Amino acid sequence: MSDKTLHQRCILEVDSNSDFSIYNLPYGIYATAHKSKRAGIAIGNYIIDLSELYDTGYFKEKIKQNVFTGEFLNDFIALGKDVWSYVRQSIQILLTDESLFLPLKEKIIDIQRDATMYLPIQIGDYTDFYSSEEHASNVGKMFRPNGDPLMPNWKHMPIAYHGRSSSIITTGQSVKRPHGQYLKGEEIVFGASQTLDIELELGYIIGKENKLGEPVPVNHASAFVFGCVLLNDFSARDIQRWEYQPLGPFLGKNFGTAISPWVITYEALQTFSVAAPEQTPSVLPYLAQTDRNNFDIELHFDIETKNKQAANVAISNSKYLYWTIEQQIAHHTVNGCNLRVGDLFGTGTISGKEKNSFGSLLELTWNGKEKIKIGDEERTFLQDGDTTILKGYCRKGDIRIGFGELRNTII
Ligand code: CA
Repeated sequence: MSDKTLHQRCILEVDSNSDFSIYNLPYGIYATAHKSKRAGIAIGNYIIDLSELYDTGYFKEKIKQNVFTGEFLNDFIALGKDVWSYVRQSIQILLTDESLFLPLKEKIIDIQRDATMYLPIQIGDYTDFYSSEEHASNVGKMFRPNGDPLMPNWKHMPIAYHGRSSSIITTGQSVKRPHGQYLKGEEIVFGASQTLDIELELGYIIGKENKLGEPVPVNHASAFVFGCVLLNDFSARDIQRWEYQPLGPFLGKNFGTAISPWVITYEALQTFSVAAPEQTPSVLPYLAQTDRNNFDIELHFDIETKNKQAANVAISNSKYLYWTIEQQIAHHTVNGCNLRVGDLFGTGTISGKEKNSFGSLLELTWNGKEKIKIGDEERTFLQDGDTTILKGYCRKGDIRIGFGELRNTII
């Protein structure tokens, strides 16, 4: 028995290509025809009902109330890192011990295809960074062709803007094409955006507060992250381009941002930590991190058209990020800004060096100049009826974990 891997000892059958292996155990909020919204953990094609499991007596030594019955994960997240870790380890023990698992199986197991997924977090503040050098350079080359592709501040701090949390959605929810004003040639017009785009990003959920006035040191910042999600920052490029100077993104962004329904814990992702790109010039001391790491998460962007033609459009990776998540947090709080449990941060669009690794249609079509193929259809930007599909997974040896899919249709 002892030389078997955790995966081999898992009582529930989990395909070796499943995103939801026993090494993952991401948290989400779901409901079924017979059950109201509650917290669950994904495993293979199943969901473990944490609320039912709690009611059988599980977790009671560490968790005083059933925090899994609510509509969001926030109450659970607020219990802190030791509790997140304890629940994950308890589930790994449960799933590998027949004497514990089998008597409970019927009560606590649901099937994913019978479940509807909901936004997992009651999101407080939402901040979106701009941390990929390749993405920032591509945008600079397109919009400021005669200057340095990066702004003079870009290599000195993680640039960001404060976004809008009310319009954050999850998988299965549609995005209504926004109307707004933009330039058509020299003319200012009002109408439906003609250049609706995606941004392929990693999102992360804050799990711990710092007090107002007390910055988070960069080498302590990882303790403030509960976990990660896929994030699609839908962007209306025509509206964005006309409005963004001098104060930055507004109506070109705040009509819809999607996050994946399963939150992978920071703990589960640590296995896939890799060194981040070196930083030149060196950064100020408050951003100087002892071990600068990113996660090696392969990120996919696919489109499926109304006519059911589908294609992969780009494959990127969160390991390319120039500014790490910890540096983003240190910078966000260096002036004393306080973070709260349930805040959502996006890394910014993640692009690699190769053309097929660009994380937006803006870059993939070089601002609409080049078409991409989806079956026998062509696209520059999104059309009504298109479904955007983001996926992300990590693999190391036989261990695989992933987010599942984030699907949203343009209407
Ligand atoms: Ca963005």
